[in-house]
Amino acid sequence: MALQKVIMKRAFAEILLVLALVGAAAFGWLNLQKGNLANNNVAALETKVKATEHLLRQSVEEAEVGDLALDLMSEELVELRTKALQLDAVKAALANGPLLQDVELFYKLQKGLSVERQLGLGALRLLTKGGDDPGVTEAFQKALQMADWNGRKNTICAAQIGLAAAGGNVKVMSECALQPPNAQGASDAAPGGAHGNAHDKAAASAHAGPHWGYEGTMGPERWGSEFPTCGKGKSQAPLNIKGPFVKGRISVAADYKAGPLRMINNGHTVQVNVASGSKLRIDGVPYDLLQYHFHRPSEEQIDGKPMAMVIHFVHKSAAGKLAVLGVLLKEGNENPGIKTLWNYAPTAEGPEVAPEEVVFNPTHLLPKEFDFFSYEGSLTTPPCTEGVRFFILKTPVNVSREQVIGFPFKRNARPVQPLNDRVITVG
Ligand SMILES: [Zn+2]
Repeated sequence: MALQKVIMKRAFAEILLVLALVGAAAFGWLNLQKGNLANNNVAALETKVKATEHLLRQSVEEAEVGDLALDLMSEELVELRTKALQLDAVKAALANGPLLQDVELFYKLQKGLSVERQLGLGALRLLTKGGDDPGVTEAFQKALQMADWNGRKNTICAAQIGLAAAGGNVKVMSECALQPPNAQGASDAAPGGAHGNAHDKAAASAHAGPHWGYEGTMGPERWGSEFPTCGKGKSQAPLNIKGPFVKGRISVAADYKAGPLRMINNGHTVQVNVASGSKLRIDGVPYDLLQYHFHRPSEEQIDGKPMAMVIHFVHKSAAGKLAVLGVLLKEGNENPGIKTLWNYAPTAEGPEVAPEEVVFNPTHLLPKEFDFFSYEGSLTTPPCTEGVRFFILKTPVNVSREQVIGFPFKRNARPVQPLNDRVITVG
């Protein structure tokens, strides 16, 4: 019974999110048009209402019919559909005081409110309490900035444009002003070239060059069609790390230095570019630390299980050999190093940022123990070049749930690859 209630509440919350966003869009558009609606806007609204209905039907099937709240929503939705093209009807459906209070209470009981739900709640508040309260507007704006752009981009943009038109005090993000940008060219794929490439990215995205992402038609299972090594390589990374292991004799030591913080959101990850001077010594051979970046969840699995996140420290030797040190992040206490980084990490794709006078030492992100698993692998992003040595530290470091949620990518991890005839060593 309790479980059923939870499922019902979840479905209910999702419906509210969509409903709120639909309402927001309708509100704004209607205001914008001042009763002089263009036909295509009417059609767009109808499509959105239909999508909401579809979601409701699915949720009802999942959550078992008969719950009072769902019935209530169902009735309201029918009403909403018939009156969706009238501003007053949309506002009235959402301006139900007890409904909003219920939702707020439900959200308060949830630990670690997801960005989507913050967004839904923000939109709902904005609609019911109006855009005059700067606190409400600001909270909504913040939720928008943190929203999952991959999953709900179109809906969010519609709501954003709508709300901006309605109140004028909601900024439309550049992602919405233009058509949604697709994933850009290689980034993490070019560990050396990633430096200073930021200004080339706009040009790279302007022509129809190779592109890739983590879902849909550009997802990892399709990478091989444009980047053959991703599909045909026999030493691909990441791996599911499980025994039997071979005892290794490699020595690894990090000698990282503090330096000015330079960060970029390249559309695939948040990456910190590192000035020269930080090194990883592998059997005494120095490898320069070029950059480090994050994946959520961890790309590597331990006995079939990913962790909350992983940091990949990418190094290159004078001979051009690449080595990646992986630090797994496990959900727990707040990580002070990541707290600093997240303060400056751009939430949307764009050029490198270099906050003035901020110095950071990547040593703060490493565990004390340096035992590791090691294997030959590849870049985990196109073009999936092989010949990369991986060292995955056995000891994870903590990251809080809020920090995981604060990472601007909901999922940017390539699935694990076949081991083939490789061995995993322990050191
Ligand atoms: Zn990586």
